[in-house]
Amino acid sequence: MNLIPLPAFQDNYLWLLHDGQRALVVDPGDAEPVRKFLTERGLQLEAILVTHHHPDHIGGLDALRDATGARVYGPARERIPQPLEPLSEGDRIEVLGLSFEVFDVPGHTAGHIAYFCKDVDDAPLLFCGDTLFSGGCGRLFEGTPAQMLVSLEKLAALPGTTRVCCTHEYTLSNLKFATAVEAGNLQLEHYRQQCEQRRSHGEPTLPSTIALERSINPFLRTGIPAVARAAHDHSGADEADPVAVFAALRQWKNGFR
Ligand SMILES: [Zn+2]
Ligand SMILES: [Zn+2]
Repeated sequence: MNLIPLPAFQDNYLWLLHDGQRALVVDPGDAEPVRKFLTERGLQLEAILVTHHHPDHIGGLDALRDATGARVYGPARERIPQPLEPLSEGDRIEVLGLSFEVFDVPGHTAGHIAYFCKDVDDAPLLFCGDTLFSGGCGRLFEGTPAQMLVSLEKLAALPGTTRVCCTHEYTLSNLKFATAVEAGNLQLEHYRQQCEQRRSHGEPTLPSTIALERSINPFLRTGIPAVARAAHDHSGADEADPVAVFAALRQWKNGFR
């Protein structure tokens, strides 16, 4: 299987998975880069997987469906252009001969879902939309900090080797914030240097892995004393309350430059 991040807009990746003949694409905000790639490689688009309703994730949906006849899967609880197979927690879909499990991950939007396959060429794969980013997480447009924390904990509990396919290249700015929160984290510093190098060569920093995110992403580290202390020092959050720590971090990040 080939896993390709097709760049779109400012900083989106349209993730495409293919076996040389058949392909799936996740959150096609723009149909054009996808159509071009399919044509160049002679690929048949079998399925479109949607994580949430934001325009930069569904903008190319109708055009791609019409051009390819691909089957569309998406969140049951959001308004997505029809026809669509509605999915929610516990559902499974078979695409490209792979079995994907669906998780509800509300927070960024109310009905946001994620797709997890436990074995793609010997490693698990996660398409998490705008819920988890490398070094960060999505803004809370429709959900509460408590909801988002549960969603992130669900993803953090996946196997460490899981490749994390996030939809935006926000890594460097996220790591700048992560460093402000947890300056003494050596793995974070090392990863930041690696990502700076990749970006300076125009390469994506993604996919990340769950193991890496657990060790560097402050939003998955609300229970780590240094992180909780930083949230407390910044806005007085109760260090013993992960939801308060998470809410303080998210608020802090919103105004961080
Ligand atoms: Zn979004
Ligand atoms: Zn987005």
